[in-house]
Amino acid sequence: MSDKTPLLSVRDLKKHFSVRGGVFAREVGRVHAVDGVSFEVAAGETLGMVGESGCGKSTTGRCVLRLIEPTSGEISFQGRDVRKMGTEELRALRRDMQIIFQDPYASLNPRLTVGGIIGEALTIHKLVKNRAEQEARVVELLETVGLQADHARRFPHEFSGGQRQRIGIARALAVEPKLIVCDEPVSALDVSIQAQVINLLEDLQEKFGLTYLFIAHDLSVVEHISTRVAVMYLGRIVEIAPAHDLYVRPLHPYTEALLSAVPIPDPKVKRSRIVLKGDVPNPISPPSGCHFHTRCPIAEARCTTEAPVLKDCGGGHRVACHLRG
Ligand code: SF4
Repeated sequence: MSDKTPLLSVRDLKKHFSVRGGVFAREVGRVHAVDGVSFEVAAGETLGMVGESGCGKSTTGRCVLRLIEPTSGEISFQGRDVRKMGTEELRALRRDMQIIFQDPYASLNPRLTVGGIIGEALTIHKLVKNRAEQEARVVELLETVGLQADHARRFPHEFSGGQRQRIGIARALAVEPKLIVCDEPVSALDVSIQAQVINLLEDLQEKFGLTYLFIAHDLSVVEHISTRVAVMYLGRIVEIAPAHDLYVRPLHPYTEALLSAVPIPDPKVKRSRIVLKGDVPNPISPPSGCHFHTRCPIAEARCTTEAPVLKDCGGGHRVACHLRG
């Protein structure tokens, strides 16, 4: 693998789900949850992936980890084809790639103590030789994420939402991963706690050289943590750019609308809110042409028939719109 090989490379990824109905449970439709998504993530960077509920961002994250099987497309991790991996290779991959979930409570076994939850990850991957070593490593991990040694003896229900997310992060870190898929890790938390968890993730990235695919539903959450940001709409990436460029010079009308909802800390700076008409269309029968045309404030006739491709606008900024870029 050359130095220029991205840590993660995804090409034309598709994930379609069957919708079944009637007495014989025949397929009556297909949800195109992810519909031809391509991106790369370089070692040490954070790619923010943003879009409304149902745009396919979490499905993309789960396909990358092979927690669900993609319908088609290529996924390459450190130059290795993830889709062709057998059981043993997948086990090793699960050590290199971890996931942090939106709802840490649902992902933590309520019957195990925190020490048991983190220790389980260490023993599955044979990272400790004995009980004493395991306990010492659990304490070290808890302290790394801002918790205390005595928390190891407590159960998940005894913690606040923010603390539970820290436990989830400690469990992910236990196996010394290279890439962590952060699937809306702060969406369920209060705003003040969100900042603490994001700061922690940034500190850990610096300390351990981690790479993140950071999924969120609004642009304000990923603004500071992302190196680059990809905006998704109905299963497709509509814009991808270095984070600063995307925030100062959004090109896609959908990105503009999302950005107009992000609060600006300086009260002197005014930004008018763009309210999109209607809801996100049903992904079983997405609009023809540009999926966004039913809500786009500047749509024209050809948008209803021609799907725009992602165009390179220079400096790593790409947009899928007939009228922009
Ligand atoms: Fe709007 Fe047309 Fe651009 Fe789609 S291609 S975002 S509908 S202007």
